[in-house]
This record gives sequence, C-alpha cells and structure tokens, in this order.
Amino acid sequence: MLSTFDEFKNKFQNTINPDLIIKEQAFLSDISKDELRSKIFDIFSCMKNSIRNGLKNNTLSRSGLSGNNTSLLIQNGYENLLSEFSKKAILYSFAIIEENARMGKIAACPTAGSSGIVPGVLIAAMEEFDKTDDDIVNALIVAGEIGRIISDKVPPAGAVAGCQAECGLASSMASGSLTFLLEGTTDKVLNSAALALKNVLGLTCDPVLGLVEVPCVKRNPILAQHAITASYLALSGIESKIPLDEIVDAMKETGLLMSPKLKESSEAGLAVVKSALKFKIDNILS
Ligand code: SF4
Repeated sequence: MLSTFDEFKNKFQNTINPDLIIKEQAFLSDISKDELRSKIFDIFSCMKNSIRNGLKNNTLSRSGLSGNNTSLLIQNGYENLLSEFSKKAILYSFAIIEENARMGKIAACPTAGSSGIVPGVLIAAMEEFDKTDDDIVNALIVAGEIGRIISDKVPPAGAVAGCQAECGLASSMASGSLTFLLEGTTDKVLNSAALALKNVLGLTCDPVLGLVEVPCVKRNPILAQHAITASYLALSGIESKIPLDEIVDAMKETGLLMSPKLKESSEAGLAVVKSALKFKIDNILS
C-alpha cells in the first residue's frame, strides 16, 4: 500500500490508473474489485440524492443557524461573477451540507462536516463537462486515495488537527480528483491537491454552539471554489513549490501546535465571539 505521494508518483508516472487503486483496496478489504466498485457507486448515488434533497428543501436546521442558503442562491444567485461550473459546484456543496445540518442523509467525504466539497465539485463537473457516472466513480477513487494517504498521517478530525484536516483535506481531495477528471497528468493532480491543502494550513475548528453549522456550512461552498481554483492553476502548469508530502508533514505539525481550544471544543475563536454567545443564550431560552 502506498504511504507517500512520492511513491504514488513513482507508481503512476504520467497517468493515474484508478483500477490499480481499487484492486489494492479490494485486496486489503478482502472483497472483490467489483463489490468495492459497486459500494462506491452506492456512495455516489447517496451524494446525488443529498444534492437533490438539499436543492428542494429550505427548512432551517433545528438550531436555526442554517438551512435556507441553498434556496437563496437558487432564487437570487448573483449572475455575472463566476462560471456556470463554479456556481453549480457552490450550489451543490451548499445543498449537501445544509442537508447534513438538518440531519438528512449524506455521504461523509471525508467527514460529515466537509461532506459538500468533493461531491459538489465532481457532480457539477460531471454535468458541465459531459462526464459519465463511471468517470465520476473513477474520480472518487482518486479522491479517496489522496484522502487515505493524507489521513494515514493526519486523522481527518477537527478535534485532532483542526478544520485543515476536514474541509482542508476535502478541498485537496476535490482538487486532485477534479484535475484527474479533466485529464490532468499525475503531476498536475498532485500539484492541485498540494495547492489546495497548502493554502488552508492552520484552519481552526471553532464551531458555534458546538454544532456543525457555523462556520462549517458556508466553509463547504467556499472551499469547493478554492478546490476549483487550485485545479485551474495546476492545469495551467502552475506548480506548488512545496511537494504534497511535505505539506502533509507541515499540516501534522500545525495540528499538534494548535491549541485544544481551537480543535472542536468551542472554547475559542468564532465560538466565543459576542454574536456566538448571543446565539447560545437565545438557544437556551428557546
Ligand atoms: S469547523 Fe470543525 S466541525 Fe466544522 S467542518 Fe471544520 S472541522 Fe468540522
């Protein structure tokens, strides 16, 4: 099993072969390649359903902190700033993560709090670039392998390493897999993932009221666009001066240095500013 992106690059040279990734994972999971691929198809269906559900639901979450931004974008999205692809990726990310806040069914990717980023980007890309279901499943396999190599060193949990290890990781997975989907070389895939991850290092986890809503919900569409920007740079030939393996090392060290108050305990940062404390009082009183 590959444990670094250097090994990944040596193995895949110019082009990533998702079939080799799935073969290895199936062997380790003691199931057949076809069974594993069919499980990934199920996850993909769940992602599509959560987008569908999120697009038609504008109910607020139980706390009232989120739930109506997807419908706001549908009715009132600003027209002339972003490409149709970016707008769709943002909308789909919102739809999924608002479903998560309402306790709807989503596929954690890599976590529930970051579940909108990878599918938001890939499913929007499928529609805008005429890709097939099979293409997206292959891209999800690549996203999964990027996520696995990083997570083996830094667990994907805000409580361990802050939001860099949840939404930051998801953004890196989304960017690498988008570049793969758009036929980028192995180098470009790794550069995308590196550019996305490098620029969220130090991202704290300070959720208001301890709920996966503020800042998590809006962080998903914003980091979906961040992933697209990283792919755009990498596909245009721009490289990360720091290789992905070293960025992961820096992420690990940053997570260790981060105060526990900024790692999901809601004891610092956004969780304790005046407005957040007011939400707390309103919630207790309601
Ligand atoms: S801020 Fe914390 S709880 Fe919210 S998505 Fe990021 S890591 Fe998860």
